[in-house]
Amino acid sequence: MKDHARVVVIGGGVTGCSILYHLAKAGWRDLMLLERSELTSGSTWHAAGGTGALTGSANMSTLHKYSFDLYPKLEEETGQSCGFHPVGRLSLARTEARVEEIKILKAKAQRVGLAPVFISNEEAMELAPILNPDGVRAVLFDPASGHVDPSGVTQAFAAGARLHGAEIVRQCPVLETNARADGSWEVVTEQGTVTAEHIVNAAGLWAREVAALADVYLPLMPVEHHYFVTENIPVLEALGREVPMIGDADAEFYMRQEGKGLLLGAYENTCTHWSERGTPADFGHELLPDDLDRIERNLAQAVESIPVLGTAGIKRVVNGPMIFSPDLNPLLGPYPGLKNYWCACGVMTAFSQAGAVGMLLTNWITEGDPGLDVFMWDVTRFGDWAGKAYTRARTADMYSTRFKTIYPYEARPAGRPVKTTPVYEVQKSRGAVFGANFGLEYPLWYATGNMQPADNFTFRRPNWFDAVGEECRALRAGVGLVDVSTYGKFRVAGPNAARWLDHVLANKLPQKVGHVVLSPMLNPRGRLVGDFTVSRLGDEEFFLVGSGAMERFHLRWWEQWLPADGVSVESLTARWTGFNIAGPAARTLLGRISDADVSDDGFPFLTARRMEVGPVREAVGLRISFTGELGYELFFPPEYQRPLLAALEAAGKDLGLRLVGSRALGSLRIEKSFPSWGAELSPDYSPYDAGLDRFVKLDKADFVGRDAALRLQQCEPAYRLTAFEIDASDADAWGGEPVLRDGEYVGYVSSASYGHCAGRSLALGYLKTGTVEDGGDLSIELVGERRALRALTEPAVDPKGERMRS
Ligand SMILES: Cc1cc2nc3c(=O)[nH]c(=O)nc-3n(C[C@H](O)[C@H](O)[C@H](O)COP(=O)(O)OP(=O)(O)OC[C@H]3O[C@@H](n4cnc5c(N)ncnc54)[C@H](O)[C@@H]3O)c2cc1C
Repeated sequence: MKDHARVVVIGGGVTGCSILYHLAKAGWRDLMLLERSELTSGSTWHAAGGTGALTGSANMSTLHKYSFDLYPKLEEETGQSCGFHPVGRLSLARTEARVEEIKILKAKAQRVGLAPVFISNEEAMELAPILNPDGVRAVLFDPASGHVDPSGVTQAFAAGARLHGAEIVRQCPVLETNARADGSWEVVTEQGTVTAEHIVNAAGLWAREVAALADVYLPLMPVEHHYFVTENIPVLEALGREVPMIGDADAEFYMRQEGKGLLLGAYENTCTHWSERGTPADFGHELLPDDLDRIERNLAQAVESIPVLGTAGIKRVVNGPMIFSPDLNPLLGPYPGLKNYWCACGVMTAFSQAGAVGMLLTNWITEGDPGLDVFMWDVTRFGDWAGKAYTRARTADMYSTRFKTIYPYEARPAGRPVKTTPVYEVQKSRGAVFGANFGLEYPLWYATGNMQPADNFTFRRPNWFDAVGEECRALRAGVGLVDVSTYGKFRVAGPNAARWLDHVLANKLPQKVGHVVLSPMLNPRGRLVGDFTVSRLGDEEFFLVGSGAMERFHLRWWEQWLPADGVSVESLTARWTGFNIAGPAARTLLGRISDADVSDDGFPFLTARRMEVGPVREAVGLRISFTGELGYELFFPPEYQRPLLAALEAAGKDLGLRLVGSRALGSLRIEKSFPSWGAELSPDYSPYDAGLDRFVKLDKADFVGRDAALRLQQCEPAYRLTAFEIDASDADAWGGEPVLRDGEYVGYVSSASYGHCAGRSLALGYLKTGTVEDGGDLSIELVGERRALRALTEPAVDPKGERMRS
């Protein structure tokens, strides 16, 4: 065995082999994959091999589609069969909610070039004569689905990797991974030691154990999963062709043809974890004992949908382990705090995802960037708070609700709360309904009167619609208080702080102490990787506020640009809490509990200061606005949060102070057409797409992404951020809906809300450049209904921005 490699991939399941193939195909040489046993020896060999591109998320669908489209090319390139059967899939809907769900899914598919179609029950029976359509209200046929042979795919990736010069070493368990001072790794195996510039953890079922070799904890937990294969079924033998896959989400099963029989798998509504404390090192090419009783209910329902199952003999039962992350998505990317350590773990639908995982990780390793926004798969989306109890609860919930209808704004309670602020109980006593951001609970809205403090789930206007409306109106009429403890907060200080920040941010820094600027942060492709409020608190001290969910992402991003000395970057995200007070009476309120000069002259718009506020000896106060109203954000250590809330509430009683949740904040900012991170702003967009041109200072000598930004500025963006109003009835847009012009796809909604003060249903989204100028009738599909939509030329509320500057 060689003793040096540029990249060592640990794990020869489908994920590891795909990564090796993609790296080799990209022209990287000196690549090695180390496999403990034989290829496919983890979850891969016993998978059912189902694959499909249709998901609710545009980027996820794009990535699944990449994997799906790759199989025929891979077969052609390597001569190794992937057992690819692109037979399509019938999704059955038995309830009204499910019909609405698949209508929404179908509409969203247009954005990624997928074309599922509704077919009648009769057409479905023609495609799949084994189907009993009784009780089926709608059928969606998705051609971009099918199944593959798991071993065939893995061997094809392996053959392709070898074809491009990569080496695969089998029967070679990795025993140690030791970081070396120069950022490379020493990989100790039973067959010798290899030094590697990069290592990739693709150890699937053993990802936790391999991570632990580098002192890394990953929030992963294995679960058991069943499917069985029947004996030949006469009707299939006679058919002479294959039936499409069938997904019956209401009955919680999936099915496909296997030979002349059927393969049926179920996600039962109890989850059975396996080897919670660690996957045994000696777990081999083996299965777990059958327990078909667990899926009895699913089976009974399946027999109603597919009656031949009731008489078919069972040929083979598979109960195998696979490993889940808390949200079922992969844990991908460079592990923060370690150099050249890459994760490709928790890939739980690998036959839809492993191809894309290989492509993304190859882009990331070879070019420093995955190429699109993959935060939904990024290992940094979980922090230390995602411990074992949380992971156990979330994975159980995810397994048992795998086929459940996902509603807009759904914040599932499993495993929560893990982190609360000191005012959590107070907020709860006032009727707060909570969501969680990067583990921390925060109020979504407050139930009033006799309302139950709980979301109802619907695709139509929800139970909280009026309560959120009251919060919005109270804030714009008087003053509202929003808990903003979830925001990402950083202190950047030191003699080189200004120089360093100037290099990583696209805007010019505030020159004077006490001034504030808004600044995008770009990657070398000129795409957005952050958007910060930057306050200068001293000559050598800055306070940055950004997305809280991205805290670990940003810390990891900065690791690569930090100079050796002269700058310290300290995250205050988990250590400081915050309140936003906003509305025309915000100044009066702040003035009542602070001796600081809070007049417009004393504390002007876009300034910051350290100030004493009520019980807080030294808070950081920013005069900024995300609501469009006169507003202040106050940040301070958590021990002051409860006394400060009490002081603000006492002082604000006669001003009509109202506790306001994040859903109202969302509505208020959409009324102002303010873009938000994760919706309008992400690595998928350049600042020019998002209308942030004025915050990018190309006359600065040098900053990360400047060259690309210069190029991007000179061309017309393909899509531009646009504000809309919608002729909605009882359903508002949510995000992801396609926008059509005269029936043709021209863009999509990125986020939306009813504008309670504007009295209109509003949205932000991206439209192909020139769409509005070229005229034509714009429309949107909301829960299957076409609704007229108009582009707005100015924000729906206070278009001149006078209120926030007042
Ligand atoms: C019953 C069942 C049905 C499924 N059906 C589907 C389906 O229809 N569609 C779908 O997309 N997915 C399905 N899956 C999930 C699928 O199996 C997984 O997504 C996939 O196998 C994950 O592949 P992987 O390469 O990431 O991990 P694994 O397959 O677990 O591979 C990890 C590899 O790493 C090796 N390894 C571990 N530790 C070391 C070490 N220290 N040194 C060297 N090598 C090491 C292991 O030996 C193993 O070969 C199913 C899973 C189950 C259990």
